[in-house]
Amino acid sequence: MTTNEHDAKQSGKLRECPFCGGKAISGMFAVWCEHCTAEINGRNQDIDESIILWNTRADDALMDEMEAALDAMIGLADCYDDDDCAAYDRAQNVLASVRERKAGK
Ligand SMILES: [Zn+2]
Repeated sequence: MTTNEHDAKQSGKLRECPFCGGKAISGMFAVWCEHCTAEINGRNQDIDESIILWNTRADDALMDEMEAALDAMIGLADCYDDDDCAAYDRAQNVLASVRERKAGK
């Protein structure tokens, strides 16, 4: 089990629908979107697997990399002039967006 899979299972909550952003619901075996009815059903009728599959996104690893890179850059940054400060603010805004997305908002 990867870290992302572990996090997805440990969180105990379902991320938003990856297609429409709708609320997800879990049943006995499957997870589905109450708005567009996108559904995922793990093999062997395993709800834990269905939840991991639903909560895992193809770009999770990229989001982790972006967060680490932005965090490191912001830690090194100094504002010497307006252009530097604009770049710093932009990096802060992108980092906040990455963290919101990772949190499933
Ligand atoms: Zn949906």
